Amino acid sequence: MPQKIAAGNWKMNAPDSAEVQKLLDAHPAPSVSILLCPPATLLAQLSKYLDGTPIATGGQDCHTAASGAHTGDVSADMLRAAGATHVIVGHSERRADHGETDALIRAKAEAALNAGLTPILCIGETLEERDAGQTLDVVARQLTDGRPETGTIVIAYEPVWAIGTGRTPTTDQIAEVHALLRDHAPDTPLLYGGSVKGANAAEIFAIPNVDGALVGGASLTADAFSPIIAAL
Ligand code: 13P
Repeated sequence: MPQKIAAGNWKMNAPDSAEVQKLLDAHPAPSVSILLCPPATLLAQLSKYLDGTPIATGGQDCHTAASGAHTGDVSADMLRAAGATHVIVGHSERRADHGETDALIRAKAEAALNAGLTPILCIGETLEERDAGQTLDVVARQLTDGRPETGTIVIAYEPVWAIGTGRTPTTDQIAEVHALLRDHAPDTPLLYGGSVKGANAAEIFAIPNVDGALVGGASLTADAFSPIIAAL
């Protein structure tokens, strides 16, 4: 059975550190893996704060190279040195804002594995692709082209149209995609992401082949993230 994971993607937000302590107080011995992915500037500080606790940290992106002349970028080795165990790669916001391709994302995932990090590979269709009946083709392509050939990864299915919109797919729509992902990746944790909240978490986690969530907005406060962790 794949590991159960509640991962928070803070994106370009910096919640008050009191929220992190509140989260720790609420889950002193969690039965699931909890992960927080802060902005790169906060990673070392947060990792230090969480050292010895059940909450792990991750980066939100990494470069394909270990070091070099890449102004503004951060390598997987640097994330690892800052205490991260995971790194998100291929988030739709990076695909859209930075033109990231499946080939680049795969190289980033390989760099993460080489640095000893577990990549969280994000895939998901746009609304246009869903409306055109292309969802399964799109996620299969993103998985096949973006996934390293070997190594332990986590996959997050995040339909682009469900991110930050308050809209979630139906349970059947999530089940259909996760069944396809399970066929391709039998032992890999499969997360769902996109407008997950306390109010819909239990329903989403009851869907076959959903092993957890990648949570944006609702990971920014302990009051919002805690019920999601509890539902898992
Ligand atoms: P929201 O939970 O804010 O919809 O964001 C999801 C997401 O993009 C997580 O990576």
